[in-house]
Amino acid sequence: MAFRATVLTLYPEMFPGPLGVSLAGKALERGDAVLETRQIRDFGKGRHRAVDDTPAGGGAGMVLRADVLGEAIDAASPEGDSRPRLLMSPRGRPLTQDFVRDLAAGEGALIVCGRFEGVDERIIEGRGLIEVSIGDYVLSGGEIAAMVLLDAVIRLLPGVMGNDQSGVHESFETRLLEHPHYTRPAEWEGRTIPPVLTSGDHGAVERWRRAEAERITRDRRPDLLTASKDRGAT
Ligand code: SAH
Repeated sequence: MAFRATVLTLYPEMFPGPLGVSLAGKALERGDAVLETRQIRDFGKGRHRAVDDTPAGGGAGMVLRADVLGEAIDAASPEGDSRPRLLMSPRGRPLTQDFVRDLAAGEGALIVCGRFEGVDERIIEGRGLIEVSIGDYVLSGGEIAAMVLLDAVIRLLPGVMGNDQSGVHESFETRLLEHPHYTRPAEWEGRTIPPVLTSGDHGAVERWRRAEAERITRDRRPDLLTASKDRGAT
């Protein structure tokens, strides 16, 4: 069964957006992944279909109402739908390649995109939403964050990456950042390709790549090396 993503948003016209081209676009076209959007405003209240209101306790901005989101979620994900329910949120668990891989192995996801100041806290518990953050910065809405997550998931679905090997050495898959890449021409503006890469010695190439990956990870993200020791992974 295809991976099925249902995105709840006030801006469905943003989708598929960048997910409509290249790898993800082809996966959607083939049906390896299915992307549906639901307009939260369809569940808005009153003549103006209000979806938000002022924060209890005062302060700036508007908050998405729990009742509106509850109805939108229930309509998009009826009982028996076992897909995880995610809420894009700067307070969430950081999106990692491990989490992406877990999602890709599942049936799909329901993804709620926040706007304004965020959502009424009660919806998170009331509908079991898992908050997911794409990084320590604040976006104006959850849609781009949802696209980031879906792009990362879709490329891992079976058959999506042309060469199934191409994911194996990538950053994070080995718990190391990736080694440098080179291609033709052999010399560009006086800069050459490390000779080992054109030596034809596959063992030496592998050792060089591994050493470079370790060096770059040590320099840029030593935290990843500690993490990999904790996990006992190679
Ligand atoms: N007042 C909130 C920010 C709201 S930003 C706070 O200070 O935490 C509006 C919406 O954008 C959020 O509800 C969320 O859905 C989305 N968003 C913003 N930054 C994000 C991030 N780093 N990761 C995932 N979603 C994010």
